[in-house]
Amino acid sequence: MKKSSLVSGFYKLSPKERLHLVKEFANLSDEECDLLQNTGSLPLSIANRMIENVVGAFPIPLGVAVNFLVNDVDYLVPMAIEEPSVVAAASYAAKIVRDGGGFRTSSTPPIMIGQIQAVGIKDPETARQRVLEAKEAILKKANEQDPVLVAAGGGAKDLDAKVIHTTEGPMLITELYVDCRDAMGANAVNTMAEAIAPIIEDLTEGRVCLRIISNLATKRLARAWCFIPKESIGGQEVVDGIVNATAFAAADPYRAATHNKGAMNGIIAVILATGNDHRAIEAGAHAYAALKGRYTSLSTWEKTEKGDLKGSIELPMAVGLIGGAVRTHPIAKIAVKILGVKTANEFAEVLAAVGLAQNLAALRALAHEGIQRGHMSLHARNIAVAAGAPEKLVDSVAEIMVKERKIRMDRAKEIINEIGRTTDK
Ligand code: NAD
Repeated sequence: MKKSSLVSGFYKLSPKERLHLVKEFANLSDEECDLLQNTGSLPLSIANRMIENVVGAFPIPLGVAVNFLVNDVDYLVPMAIEEPSVVAAASYAAKIVRDGGGFRTSSTPPIMIGQIQAVGIKDPETARQRVLEAKEAILKKANEQDPVLVAAGGGAKDLDAKVIHTTEGPMLITELYVDCRDAMGANAVNTMAEAIAPIIEDLTEGRVCLRIISNLATKRLARAWCFIPKESIGGQEVVDGIVNATAFAAADPYRAATHNKGAMNGIIAVILATGNDHRAIEAGAHAYAALKGRYTSLSTWEKTEKGDLKGSIELPMAVGLIGGAVRTHPIAKIAVKILGVKTANEFAEVLAAVGLAQNLAALRALAHEGIQRGHMSLHARNIAVAAGAPEKLVDSVAEIMVKERKIRMDRAKEIINEIGRTTDK
């Protein structure tokens, strides 16, 4: 039977009831469910192997966004994030997009770029030609470093070289294009870049310095787009508001940074949940947003002739299902299982859809009721807890602050005292 990610009232269930539903959807074992609900479940021995100087682990909540339909496939989306509202907003936007048939996506092959910097070259243009002529030998040397990747259908596929003019004089930058298949690929690419450095030195008669992957993964792009009937999003005014908001982001980097941050809220939460490298994804996304010389929006939202909404996003997506922490972190393994993606490309495309959903949710709230209403009720609960509200008073304190539009620690403390006095009487 085809499983659906369309779940109404998921938020109203208890964590145990929600997990039961996820367990059925993703065929999780009892052991995996136990691990998920034991919130300290990164064994110290594993943590100690992951990074240096380990003293403990830092748990953050793992939620599941529902309603995602991408290329007619249903996905439950695991998200690790400390910020309230993100998971709810993603689920809400995914439901709206479902009304228009769900997300459509595409992606390029998973090609990463490795850079080899050569300096002190007398004739950089001739050196460039020599590197390009030696392409086959260079690719062969690179591929000898990773027979496993080559056997999986990946490996170094092509290269290019460019002369750049810097404050330290001209440099020849060789760029190796490596198909990383289901790996993010930084280790794989860096190993290859280091291995071919001596060949580059011979060819250029210069000195090789840096040999490292580029996080501006312009050859590894993921795209998502969707169509939304105007009735599903709250009518013509909301559509116009979203289109105007996008024009603002496209024209103004101060707005674009926040516009893109909204999309990255969703993407990074999934990246974290699956043990991927979120710094790599952030660096790639923002550099891509500035690629044409001015920082701008990663997404576009347009009005169709009939006044409906269509949106799209395109960004680099260097993600893996192999390597890094993906296969070592016990919760990351379960998160990948919940998501159910089988290749890094499928994963990248779902992430693009999540980014577009998150962007839509933020724009809809901004264009419609203002961001504070939805956002602040959850935030208010956090402030109430931080101000020392006992469990039974948290909701009432939060409610009063939201009503007064004064969501502040000092006010929370006052309310706790006021309610405390009333209940003491
Ligand atoms: P990795 O080296 O652990 O795993 C990749 C390897 O897995 C491949 O080289 C290949 O040998 C093997 N493999 C087996 N089956 C495969 C398949 N189907 N597809 C692809 N590979 C397969 O990890 P990685 O992905 O090369 O590197 C990722 C790690 O590098 C992350 O932890 C990241 O944080 C880190 N890192 C990032 C940067 C950066 O982004 N600038 C720099 C250095 C390190």
